[in-house]
Amino acid sequence: MANKDEVSKQFLDALEFRGIKRRDFLKYCGATAILLGFSESFAPKIAAAIENATKRQPVVWLNFASDSGCTEAFIKATYPSPAQVILDILSVDYNETIMAAAGKQAEEILVKSRQEGGYILIVEGGIPTKKGHGMIGNKEMLEVFKENAGPAIAILAIGSCATTGGVPAAKPNPSQIIGTAEALKRLGISKPLVNLDLCPVNPEYLVGVVVNFLLLGKIPDLDHFGRPKMFYGQTIHDNCERRAHFDAGRFVEVFGSKEESLNYCLYKMGCKGPMTWSACPKIQYNDRTSWCVKAGGPCIGCAEPGWTDKFAGFYERLPGVKIPGMDGVEAGADKIGAIAAAATAAGIALHAVATGVSGRIKDKDGGEK
Ligand code: SF4
Ligand code: SF4
Repeated sequence: MANKDEVSKQFLDALEFRGIKRRDFLKYCGATAILLGFSESFAPKIAAAIENATKRQPVVWLNFASDSGCTEAFIKATYPSPAQVILDILSVDYNETIMAAAGKQAEEILVKSRQEGGYILIVEGGIPTKKGHGMIGNKEMLEVFKENAGPAIAILAIGSCATTGGVPAAKPNPSQIIGTAEALKRLGISKPLVNLDLCPVNPEYLVGVVVNFLLLGKIPDLDHFGRPKMFYGQTIHDNCERRAHFDAGRFVEVFGSKEESLNYCLYKMGCKGPMTWSACPKIQYNDRTSWCVKAGGPCIGCAEPGWTDKFAGFYERLPGVKIPGMDGVEAGADKIGAIAAAATAAGIALHAVATGVSGRIKDKDGGEK
């Protein structure tokens, strides 16, 4: 086996080959340190942990019922590419969307990975439980999941399809699709599981979990939905760049209006930011250049379990949100179901208490941010 210096050199050579300079890699490590809740001065430690990973961590990446949008988000990330960095750290032994092998050859790779074990299993997509609605290699997807979950050391469910079923599990859910946690429960398998809800997953979240694992040797602290608190500890609304407009009662009421051109708050256009827990405004997409509200669209709440049913229709405003400057509570959006209304009321109550006490939101488990 190569020693640490050799591995570090191999790693840096691989980065250079991919056009990433060491300076840029360190810059990326600095940004990742902040993302993980450390100071930027922690960057060299992160770089060392990555460079000195003496054994590449094997990964098996399974695709079930989805549009492969999470793989797309992962491989299309650019400068300095989290995807490239991750691929230099990890050995992605099996990913049927991007691997060159196919058919019998691909199956053999999967069998070999299972025999060797010790891999991180990444799950993309929901798991159909209705017979014949999702097959790989002539096996039901639930069976494929069962076979490959067993030898894994930990499971990352990436994207809302994998966590709770997402779009493919939206009502009426004809394929009876379930998420990874539910599949583990039904199969009686116990494994460390990290849920990265979002549609698609943010590649930065995936990098963050992996770097956390390399640095500390464990998965990050999770909230009660199994999501890393470092990414899901605050609401969109708390960090939104349009929050001052919300607080001042300045809203977009019609797309194409002057208010829209002034980037007023999108709450009345259906924004689910007050009910959605994710770091999207801080971490953003596409190398931290933009995110949904910045691009002009209301947050549709895709970081929340069950969002496809809970938050439909996506352009209808949330009920029960107290608007600054108005006496009462907004009643609108009567088409949103009773479950959403109850969840909203609970969320807003928590939000009001937390904001009132500390001036900032608290996380769902009570920790102050
Ligand atoms: S309602 Fe939406 S657009 Fe308005 S401040 Fe909150 S998150 Fe931002
Ligand atoms: S801002 Fe909202 S809709 Fe956009 S990715 Fe984040 S949680 Fe999903």
